[in-house]
Formats: sequence, structure tokens, C-alpha cells
Amino acid sequence: MADLIEQLRGIVGDKGLVLNEDLAGRGAGYRHPDKTLVAKVLVRPGSTEEVSQILKLCNGAGQPVVSQGGLTGLVDGNIAAPDEVILSLERMREFEEIDHASATMTIQAGATLQSVQEAADDAGFFFPLDLGGRGSATLGGNISTNAGGNRVLRYGMARDMVLGLEAVQADGTVLSSLNKIIKDNAGYNLKHMFIGSEGTLGVVTRLVLRLRPKPASQQTAYLALDEFDKLPQLLNFCNSRSGGCLSAFEVMWRDYFELVLSTPGAAQPLPADYPFYVLMEVMGGDPEADADRFQDMLADALEKGLLVDAVIAKSEGERQAMWALRDDVESLRRWGPTVGFDVGLPIAAMPDYLEEIDQPILARWPERRRAVFGHLGDGNLHIAYAVGENGADTKKIIDDAVYLPLASRGGSVSAEHGIGLSKRDYLEVSRSAAEIGLMRQLKTMMDPNNILNPGKIF
Ligand SMILES: Cc1cc2nc3c(=O)[nH]c(=O)nc-3n(C[C@H](O)[C@H](O)[C@H](O)COP(=O)(O)OP(=O)(O)OC[C@H]3O[C@@H](n4cnc5c(N)ncnc54)[C@H](O)[C@@H]3O)c2cc1C
Repeated sequence: MADLIEQLRGIVGDKGLVLNEDLAGRGAGYRHPDKTLVAKVLVRPGSTEEVSQILKLCNGAGQPVVSQGGLTGLVDGNIAAPDEVILSLERMREFEEIDHASATMTIQAGATLQSVQEAADDAGFFFPLDLGGRGSATLGGNISTNAGGNRVLRYGMARDMVLGLEAVQADGTVLSSLNKIIKDNAGYNLKHMFIGSEGTLGVVTRLVLRLRPKPASQQTAYLALDEFDKLPQLLNFCNSRSGGCLSAFEVMWRDYFELVLSTPGAAQPLPADYPFYVLMEVMGGDPEADADRFQDMLADALEKGLLVDAVIAKSEGERQAMWALRDDVESLRRWGPTVGFDVGLPIAAMPDYLEEIDQPILARWPERRRAVFGHLGDGNLHIAYAVGENGADTKKIIDDAVYLPLASRGGSVSAEHGIGLSKRDYLEVSRSAAEIGLMRQLKTMMDPNNILNPGKIF
């Protein structure tokens, strides 16, 4: 082992190594706030060339490697075992280029999402990917999990924001496809092998990101509805009336809304006695006209009976307070141990599904607490259960109750967070044996020694 560490030191130098005994000072990330990192060694390369040399060395030695970004992942894809090497891109955060003509930004993959958003803004552009973990999450992690977030409705997922990608394969081969073009059908588009593959097929080192025009206005409102069936009607109405400029349609069931309202200092945009709430945002190019159109649209929706109450943000401060409410997933920690889910299913199937999954849980834990919210426009629900206990048996009962009914509804066990370790046992709920077979063949072909994030996904 000492030999491997010395060889790694030869590649990255002293500043690029954090030895096992020094890992105690490093937190294990968002999901494990009370734990510290565990690994044989943490290696911090400073360039793609160094990543290549590290993987070549580890591949030859059969040494497993876990890539880590900002450790905000929610499915334990970033967890390393004591005998594994952590490869962190924290020294690879360079902004290499903003190309105004192509509207692209070229970066190293260790850059955080927030820093990319800010750099795009400074250059007069907009990078639309956004999620609660933005301050720590890296673009490498975002791309490797194909993150979704708050603006998928209009701009798509992380996959849709990457034009070019550089990745290092398990044997150290550098695959550099740093294209800046939107249309590129020259054979297989290999970047997609790495997007969403959770560090199991390669290490993403550099990216060409697609930038968008900076919106001149953001209209934001909280809306209350009295029936579930009106949610998709409201979504379609507003999408059409805003000419496709609807950028967020975040739905909260009353249980989640009540919880986040109870956070000290939280805004209270609307009374807490409606069954459904929507945080809606429209982005446009003409602040005055957009504000009028937004108000008219909501007034018409009210008149049609699609919503029963509404409040529009009148300042940037109010807008941020509205988003802070929606993003306050931390409030779930007040319930003690919770089991969280990120499922996808057709909107029409949601009410019946939520009722079905709740039955066995309520029967066993009548005092259970539940919160439901999500990116409804994307068919994505987040569900959290707290039942007052958190053993493995408890988790299995709740996991079964939530995941198994997805199969008959064409649902997904992971809408946006990935599979990692947490959902590995349920992959076949959403993927056929043939699909999983091909995934395994690809893994074996691209990483024959199974050194890249082994045991994750399947
Ligand atoms: C408060 C909060 C809110 C969130 N909201 C959302 C949301 O709305 N939508 C959403 O989709 N996600 C959300 N997430 C999840 C999280 O932000 C994403 O999973 C994020 O994209 C992971 O980035 P990271 O840099 O933290 O990666 P990590 O957690 O470090 O790693 C995640 C996975 O990516 C792999 N990986 C990391 N870097 C690389 C690389 N360079 N090359 C290859 N593999 C790599 C790891 O091995 C691991 O499998 C949220 C998280 C938090 C904490």
C-alpha cells in the first residue's frame, strides 16, 4: 500500500495527497453530517494529465477509485470504503474560457455550480442549472449525476447544458470532446456515456457548458390550489400563456408547506390551510410588460377557478424569501431520522400513487410524518417519511412501500438524484433485465478491472 501511495505522491506531489490519518478533519458530506471521510488515501490532481496517470496506476494495481466533487450527492454514490482511493477534483476549478460568439464556457470540472452561475452572470449570460446544493456541488458532480433542479421545465437537465466534455477512462485514456457546437451527429455521441453514470465509467475533467441569454425579468409568485387535478391544468395554462417562458413550477403539498413555515424567520406568503401550493416563476426579456402579463395571467387563472389564492413577489428580497421557503429541505431534520425519496411518474398517476404508498406505512406507524413536494412539471416528486425509528428493517419496509408501486405506473425510482448505493436494490423496478444487462456490458467494456466507483448503481 505504501508503494501505491508513494507512486501517487510522485504524480501529484505532497500538496495533492491527503493521507488516511489526516482525513478525520474532512466531513463526509451533506448526507452524513456527523461522519468524516474514510479512504486509503485522498488524491487531489491538478490537471487532466495527472488524473490520467492516477487512473493508469490504479488500473494496473486493481485499485478501486471513487470520484468526489462537493459531496452533496443524495444517494451515497460518493462514499468510499477504507480500502478505496478518493479522487477529488477540488484543485481543478479553473475557468478556462468564455466564448461570447458560441455562448459557451469552458471549465475544469471541480468548479462549483454557484461559481459557474456567477461567472456566467458576470459575462452577461445565464447558466440555468440550479439546485439547493449550489454552493458546494461541482459541475463534475452535477454532470455525473445528470442533476435536474429548479428550471428543468424550461432548460432541461444537466445533460442539456453540456456541449463538450473531457473524461478520463479507467485505463488513463483521455477522451477529449470539447466541442462548442449544438448540432453534432458524427457517430455515437460519447459524452452521454459519462453524463449520469455516477463516476462508474470515467472521471469527468473538463466541460464546455452551453450558456443562455440572461433573462431581464423574473416574475415569481406563490399560488394556492384546492384540488390536485387543477395542478396540471394550471401548469398547461401558464405554460401556454407565458409563451414557453415558464421556468419553475414547484409544487408543495400542505404537509411540506406547514413544515417549512415553522422554520424560525420563514416568510409566510400565504395561509397554511390550502391543500396545494405552487412556487411559479416566469423569465422574460421586458421587465415592465412581463410584470403586467404575469399579473393578467394569474388573474385569468383565478377567474377560471384554477387557483384560489396568490401572492406575487414585489422585490428581489421577496423573491429570494419565496425560494428559501421552497429550498428549506433542512427543516426535515427537525423530524429526526427521515427516509427521503426522489421518484418520477406521470402527473395523472400521482394522487393514487401517494395514497397507495401511504397505506402500509400508516398501518404500521399511525403517527408517521410525511412531506411531499417536487418539480411537478417534470413528473418528479420528493417524498420524506419520518416514523420515529431508523433501522435497516424500517428503511426496507418504507423503501418497498414507495418504490414497488412505481413499476405498474411506468415510474422511475430516481428522477434526478441517481442510484448510487441507496437505490441499487430497486434499479429493476425501473429498468428491464435487458437494459441492466447492457449497462453491465458497457461497464465491463469501459472498466474491465472494475476500479471506477465499484458497487455503485448495480
Ligand atoms: C440541499 C440540496 C439540494 C439538492 N437539490 C437537488 C435538485 O434539486 N436536483 C438534483 O438533481 N439534485 C439535487 N441535489 C443533489 C446534488 O446536488 C447533486 O447530486 C450534485 O449534482 C452532486 O454534485 P457533487 O459535486 O456534490 O458530487 P458528489 O456528491 O461529490 O458526487 C456525486 C456522484 O458523482 C460522482 N462524481 C463527482 N464528481 C465526478 C467527476 N468529476 N467525474 C465522475 N464522477 C464524479 C461521484 O462519484 C458520485 O457518484 C441536492 C443536494 C442538496 C444537498
